Amino acid sequence: MHSLIMPVGGWVQPPSGAGHAESPDSKRRIKSLLDVSGLSDRLSVRSAPAATREELLRVHPPEYLDRFKAVSDAGGGDLGQLAPFGRGGYEIAALSAGLAVGAVDAVLRGEHRNCYALSRPPGHHCLPAEPMGFCLLANVAIAVEAARAAHGVRRVAVLDWDVHHGNGTQHIFYERADVLTLSVHQDRCFPPGYSGDGDRGKGAGAGYNINVPLLPGGGHEAYRHAFERIVVPALRRYRPELIVVASGLDANAVDPLARMQLHSGSYRMMTRMIMEVADECCDGRIVAVHEGGYAEAYVPFCAHAIIEQLAGENMGVEDPFLAVFEPQQPGEVFNALQRRLLDEQAASLGLN
Ligand code: ZN
Repeated sequence: MHSLIMPVGGWVQPPSGAGHAESPDSKRRIKSLLDVSGLSDRLSVRSAPAATREELLRVHPPEYLDRFKAVSDAGGGDLGQLAPFGRGGYEIAALSAGLAVGAVDAVLRGEHRNCYALSRPPGHHCLPAEPMGFCLLANVAIAVEAARAAHGVRRVAVLDWDVHHGNGTQHIFYERADVLTLSVHQDRCFPPGYSGDGDRGKGAGAGYNINVPLLPGGGHEAYRHAFERIVVPALRRYRPELIVVASGLDANAVDPLARMQLHSGSYRMMTRMIMEVADECCDGRIVAVHEGGYAEAYVPFCAHAIIEQLAGENMGVEDPFLAVFEPQQPGEVFNALQRRLLDEQAASLGLN
């Protein structure tokens, strides 16, 4: 049993609610809000088969998959850093990855302009042979490789707006130019020990990895400026055939595992900005794959705003938290500093 991410015991008391931060509840509550608002009825809501072993092997070595399956069959465990799972964890993770694969496939077949894969567990911290940060399989990377194999896609951009660094995706595509990886995240949050903006890719991948570390405490304006000065110009320069968003919603103002201050309007704005780029360069093709997000009371409002924007719908859902979060946004002194840092980074990346 866990309290947020700490095992219960010693001074850590048993939780009264969900227990581990990465619980199914935030995801269930997203689905509930979509149903109650009526948005579900306007969408094509579908499931997808589990990712096949062949699909998983494009990213993960067979030894890792075998070890994961064996521990999962034996009742569960933790094969890495903060990535506990129970019996059946392997099959559940393969289903989660399969949903991302199915969403990418549906968009590339032209069945939908865009999709949101409400996957769980998340994937963006997972390394090829080591799970990390609640991530057991690299969902987005598996979906990107499936897209390349089945549809011959040559240029994919992965935009990771989870508040934590998308280190797994970065690692997997670090030496490749056919996948641009972009991560916007809270500086030095999780995982520890990476060099932020200094990691720009290697070999053929040099220049095709962009990290945008933001000062802790930043909110709507920090992200707006980061998107305007770096994310959107970088996507425009790359001209991807498909944009995959690693859609963690843990940069929200009350997330227990980070210190940023976004609200549902921020996620709506970021989605709109990405859709404009996607309309320009890839017929609007966007697949958002769910990642983190641990404030179960608030995550559903953020997800609902993203999915409304993607679907071009407005169900009239009023986010009651906006009245609390908007007046608490950082002031001009903070924002000016963050903007200056972003402008400097944009210049060093040759973006304008
Ligand atoms: Zn996260």
